[in-house]
Amino acid sequence: APTLGILGGGQLAQMLALAALPLGVRVTVLEPDAQAPARLCAKHLPAPYTDPAGLDALAACDAVTLEFENVPVEALDALRGRVPVRPGAGVLARSKHRAREKEALRAAGVQTAPFVVLESGADLSGALARVGGQGLLKTSELGYDGKGQARVTSDDALQAAWDGVGRVPCVLEGLVPFDREVSLAVARTPDGQVAFGPLVENVHRNGILRTSVFPANVPDGTEARARDLARAVADAWALEGLITLEFFVLPDGELVVNEVAPRVHNSGHLTQDGGGVSQFEAQVRAVLGLPLADWRPLHPCAMVNDVGAADPDATPDWAGIDALPGTRVHRYHKARRPGRKVGHVNVVAPDPATLRERLAALEALIP
Ligand code: ATP
Ligand code: MG
Ligand code: MG
Repeated sequence: APTLGILGGGQLAQMLALAALPLGVRVTVLEPDAQAPARLCAKHLPAPYTDPAGLDALAACDAVTLEFENVPVEALDALRGRVPVRPGAGVLARSKHRAREKEALRAAGVQTAPFVVLESGADLSGALARVGGQGLLKTSELGYDGKGQARVTSDDALQAAWDGVGRVPCVLEGLVPFDREVSLAVARTPDGQVAFGPLVENVHRNGILRTSVFPANVPDGTEARARDLARAVADAWALEGLITLEFFVLPDGELVVNEVAPRVHNSGHLTQDGGGVSQFEAQVRAVLGLPLADWRPLHPCAMVNDVGAADPDATPDWAGIDALPGTRVHRYHKARRPGRKVGHVNVVAPDPATLRERLAALEALIP
């Protein structure tokens, strides 16, 4: 049977493994956390990402993929020449570093937010004016779910945010006046087959994804445009495997890329239950070079994240959710903590109007 190695054992690895098994594929994950979600459905090597025996086990797989971008370079170096790693080191080097990523997006001909790279305090002078007077200060590395970001509207606020951030380099981005946010994934097999996921609409709360909806409520032509941009990035970055692009949709319909994830994405979880192939199956297929087609859901569908609230007793109304038509629950076997994603619920419906009703009912049951 083909074997797939995964660097990382979180919920994305859990769901990749769950999608791999019915394809006849066995999964091994290298993940230091003994309580990581994927331990329950894959062979789990509980060791650091640079552990020689762990890397030997991954090198014995047919291909290796990853479920997060902050894999140490040493791990990739140790695997080079022994097993295909998809996406490879080139895609990863860009997508784990915000400044480098933005430069590489522009080189691929894709619009980004205006930005200035800040390496030291000397770079602050005039920076906010250059991005339009309002911006977000973001660490270049290790940020997710809006962590390590501050919104700034004055030079003093920028200085204060910079003093508090504690990690360089940073990127100061101009505030993009978007109408909506959408995302789209593209995959490419080693022999060059390209396929796309659905265009999904995303709503964030406190910097964390709250809901995703398919189809996105955008003008005709937006999905085709997003696909063109995704293909341009996949080509320019010599993609093997799957990446997901996050976009801002401007009032005139233009698309600006916010960031790129070198993997399946939280906004694609609704593909698990919309009928058809899921994003997880698509990544497994792309990485192993199995036949691959577009994985657009067959039915309107949506997802709501279950994120730990400040009040530990504020949990979803599970009985109410089970009683709602069209819902399916996905839990990650993680301890509930404030701001931590511990699961999600998908909901599917026969038409967009019914989906809107069911989604509103579902949202009311998840704090
Ligand atoms: P994740 O990787 O979990 O998506 P992150 O920490 O990398 O999160 P971003 O995607 O950069 O964060 O930003 C989170 C959200 O903040 C965006 O989806 C968007 O809603 C808002 N945001 C980020 N950058 C900008 C910007 N330049 N202008 C306007 N809004 C922004
Ligand atoms: Mg990010
Ligand atoms: Mg993001």
